[in-house]
Amino acid sequence: MPKPNAIYLDYNATAPIRPSVIAAMTDALAQAGNPSSVHGFGRIARQSVEEAREKIAAFIDSAAPQLIFTSGGTEANNSAIAYSGRKRVLVSAIEHDSVRLVRKDAELIPVDENGLVRLNALEQMLKTNPEPALVSVMLANNETGVIQDIAAISALAKKYDALVHTDAVQALGKMKIDCRALGADMLTLSAHKAGGPQGVGVLVFSDAVPLAAMIKGGGQERSRRAGTENVAAIAGFGALIDALSATMPAEIERMRIMQSALEAKITALHPQIELIAANVARLPNTTSLVWTGYKSDMQLMRLDMSGVAVSAGSACSSGKVKPSHVLEAMGLPSDQAACALRVSTGWNSRESDIEAFCAAYAMLDQATQRGGEVRMKQTA
Ligand code: PLP
Repeated sequence: MPKPNAIYLDYNATAPIRPSVIAAMTDALAQAGNPSSVHGFGRIARQSVEEAREKIAAFIDSAAPQLIFTSGGTEANNSAIAYSGRKRVLVSAIEHDSVRLVRKDAELIPVDENGLVRLNALEQMLKTNPEPALVSVMLANNETGVIQDIAAISALAKKYDALVHTDAVQALGKMKIDCRALGADMLTLSAHKAGGPQGVGVLVFSDAVPLAAMIKGGGQERSRRAGTENVAAIAGFGALIDALSATMPAEIERMRIMQSALEAKITALHPQIELIAANVARLPNTTSLVWTGYKSDMQLMRLDMSGVAVSAGSACSSGKVKPSHVLEAMGLPSDQAACALRVSTGWNSRESDIEAFCAAYAMLDQATQRGGEVRMKQTA
């Protein structure tokens, strides 16, 4: 069990749920009714679902008439990649596994040393094969926070009749998401990265996408996703959007201040500590650090013992520390990629969390100098 005073700096894995979300979910759970039923109970449940749908669509300025609820970001990404009707699929090399591993024949779009998609390479890929493609590039990366120019990618893809999907899971609550400006045909969100419930997401898609149902056997979600809707979680998603509508600018500002403080302190600690993608646009809550010589799993363990919870990279899928495909695609040598740490803040983070992290991080070196054994084992 985590210590009661543990410092949580792993919001990109999942964010603590907001009290207003719990309240909305509790109300919805207490209400009987299947949204597909025609009686009054059903109509109340249906109203919860439709209100949430409208709030989300308005919040992301979605021109897309279609927004379906899913069991989360993973399902929405899988649907987008596998059911858009496009045979040819191009995905960036830094995508989350729920995009990257869906199609074995997906072609990888290379990224530069900052993790930004190489537009020239993408254009070459689109030019050399006339088969209309689906291009999937995430809006913001879960490990580095690097933000892609999706508007430019969409404009390029359109020249070659390609459809565009963007995984905006990590962007929600941390930057403005404006579907019209992004120009993508499909967009994925998940509630739990921003203080909503786990197990609910959305896939937004335009009329240009002949999306087929991944889950069949019912007419729900306009026959695009069968199964009784998770009404309480959807109501929670709606409450999350209410919260974000009220507080997002202030939260972003606070995250930005904490990020600056963290990065200034950490880089002053030791010359061997490197910030990843320090000079390109990043989310205000995400910092990726490399301290060469200290393997990520050892750093994680020591920080955890000090009551500080962070992540080695993508903790979304396995809980195991494996080399980061994101950092490798950015060309980081594997001995450095094996020493990366991700610190991510969110709506409920405090400046004292950052101070606690920095103090514990500084102790890594001292602990090693005292014992000597950690560094030797890790560099062997
Ligand atoms: N996409 C990104 C960028 C993520 O970070 C995650 C995290 O898990 C997902 C998709 C999957 O979302 P979910 O946990 O809702 O399935």
